[in-house]
Amino acid sequence: MTTPNGRTAKELFENSPYALTYNDIILMPGHIDFGPADVDLTTKLTREITLRRPLVSSPMDTVTEHRMAIALALCGGIGIIHYNCTIDEQVAQVKKVRRFENGFILDPLTLSPDHTVQDVWNIKAQHGFSGIPITEDGTIKSKLVGIVTNRDIDFEPDRGRKLREVMSTDIVSAKKGISLPEANEILRESKKGKLPVIDDQGRLVALTSRRDLRKNRDFPDATKDAKKNLMVGAAISTKNEDRDRLAALAEAGVSVVVIDSAQGDSTYQHDMIKWIKKSHPDVQVIGGNVVTERQAENLIKVGADALRIGMGPGSICTTQEVMAVGRSQGTAVYHTAKAARKHSVPVIADGGISVIGHIMKALSLGASATMCGSLFAGTDESPGDYVYRDGVRLKVYRGMASLDAMKVGGNKRYFTEAQDVKVAQGVSGFVQDRGSMSDLVAYLSQGLRLAFQDAGVRSVETLHAALEDGSLKFELRSPSAQREGGVHDLHSYTQPDQFNQRNQ
Ligand code: GDP
Ligand code: 5GP
Repeated sequence: MTTPNGRTAKELFENSPYALTYNDIILMPGHIDFGPADVDLTTKLTREITLRRPLVSSPMDTVTEHRMAIALALCGGIGIIHYNCTIDEQVAQVKKVRRFENGFILDPLTLSPDHTVQDVWNIKAQHGFSGIPITEDGTIKSKLVGIVTNRDIDFEPDRGRKLREVMSTDIVSAKKGISLPEANEILRESKKGKLPVIDDQGRLVALTSRRDLRKNRDFPDATKDAKKNLMVGAAISTKNEDRDRLAALAEAGVSVVVIDSAQGDSTYQHDMIKWIKKSHPDVQVIGGNVVTERQAENLIKVGADALRIGMGPGSICTTQEVMAVGRSQGTAVYHTAKAARKHSVPVIADGGISVIGHIMKALSLGASATMCGSLFAGTDESPGDYVYRDGVRLKVYRGMASLDAMKVGGNKRYFTEAQDVKVAQGVSGFVQDRGSMSDLVAYLSQGLRLAFQDAGVRSVETLHAALEDGSLKFELRSPSAQREGGVHDLHSYTQPDQFNQRNQ
């Protein structure tokens, strides 16, 4: 039954004989008395973490390593580093994000005058920067004697040359206790790339960098903690040995961990969440995956700070067919979000997001953020190189339970690791080049603002309030309504490369 102005989510989802997907529903327009620029996309990732964009990248080895996490955090979202790797490798990824943009770099990498030009190139290859303070014994907290930057070494043919011979010694420095704006002012005036901060005895205590000045200007929405470091998340499994992983990640400064499990309502996960909340209370924990109210309640009870929703909607995922257990994503988001709202716990809609409209619908059904795999996998910042197939630029994208990923250890989330027989719950494939993350997030954000405007809502918070009080209205779409909503009846047309600004 339709009504003149559409139906509430409650009417749709609590009376429908079918579970519904994003494509099954459509939002009714609201009244517009504001512009897209007035829309505020600020939202909650967890109880404690706020994002300026409702975007999270999946912990998958073809989606999130440090470059993705940095790019997304700079744009206001957050990346979750995958764990299809050793603890050390994952920790190194987290550290790269944490170090990337700093007010003060409190533990800058240092070398001694007896190190060589090659040592600087090695740091550049591993960490991406070459501005290295040189201290008497090569450690931080010893006396600053020089600084080596790109300009000191880029035309130096002898890589074995000692740094004492190439370093600059006319250093502009600042005294310990200086504020960030003051330090920035000195950087601006001196036109130097780096400003070392030293104590009364001339010992190095910190470093500030010109690049950070620029980045602070260019990325006002960046997801940062109180110390001005970019925030980053990491995934772990429910296995006991991952307690060591968690401890190492916490030590490296991870802000939030995702317990990566296809069916999150397990004793293993309950125990893991309780342990983390007790032993590392500063780390926010996202539990999951869950799709029912009961599962959600169970994880909230043991202390989850947010929930990850989805069982089977992922683009590379075959769980619903192989396991016959799962839920359509619209229904899963609606019911879990409703349960979690009572406890002020945000939920993250994970998987099946392939257009802006899916993000809008996920938020409208109560999600606070969306987690994307395929949408981000083809960007410059995802791991892996571009390849060409039939003239099209592509990147590999694979499920973490695909046979390919499992060979590297990726079946941790599906309780099958110890078994010889592997049952894949995902596939491996390709996605198209999506350009840079900053262009993609700008495109998604602007599209979302326009969607909010059409719905007559100015913020995620008001959207959720309208969902709750029933003023947000939806309608079910018949199969022919869905066909009508797509392109039809043309002889031919060019599919716009909607995500890749580079090709527009
Ligand atoms: P460089 O000139 O090659 O050192 O690079 P930039 O100064 O242009 O960029 C260095 C970036 O790396 C800045 O965003 C720094 O905040 C960041 N960074 C993080 N840790 C360190 C560190 O230990 N040393 C240096 N030099 N930069 C760091
Ligand atoms: P996408 O954004 O590509 O539609 O979905 C990404 C999500 O799919 C991930 O965040 C994760 O929850 C899920 N996922 C990743 N790998 C696999 C897999 O191999 N099998 C299944 N069932 N789900 C997967």
